Amino acid sequence: MSEARRRGGAEAWARWAVATGLLTAERVDALLRAETADSTPSDAAIAALIDFRAALWPVLDALVDDHEPPAGEWEALRRNMVLAREAAVLPPAFPLRWQPGTDHLDDLRHALALRTEDLLSGDGLGRVRRCEGPGCGWFFLDRSRSGTRRWCSSQDCDNRDRARRHYSRARQRG
Ligand SMILES: [Zn+2]
Repeated sequence: MSEARRRGGAEAWARWAVATGLLTAERVDALLRAETADSTPSDAAIAALIDFRAALWPVLDALVDDHEPPAGEWEALRRNMVLAREAAVLPPAFPLRWQPGTDHLDDLRHALALRTEDLLSGDGLGRVRRCEGPGCGWFFLDRSRSGTRRWCSSQDCDNRDRARRHYSRARQRG
């Protein structure tokens, strides 16, 4: 992978990390501004993150659709959690809470694993939703009071869905 492509990949992953709340926008800016070679994730780190994210998809599908998670992906989740714990720090405070050892882009997979564990073992479990936006499929945490949010982002999928319904209504009339 060329340096420019690697850097482009790093920026894409950094944006994704901000969107998912793994890193703050300020922290990502600082990481991407740093011009050192190790401020960009390695090919292996990106590949591991892609693999882990791909494994999470069917696990979250199983949660939302209320069926048993697939064994292979579940094992990938378990393995990633073990690795993340090994690299994590445990600040001496209550309630105890594992935190990623660093917030380097290379360690995003560990940060994702720890957040996933929080999500799938905590109060947020019943609020995981799959976006109903056409062709979207993103998962999101429904923090609305009513618990009836259907789209990952009201600026994006919600509007697209509205436009699509408007278009099909207009066509039915025409
Ligand atoms: Zn969506």
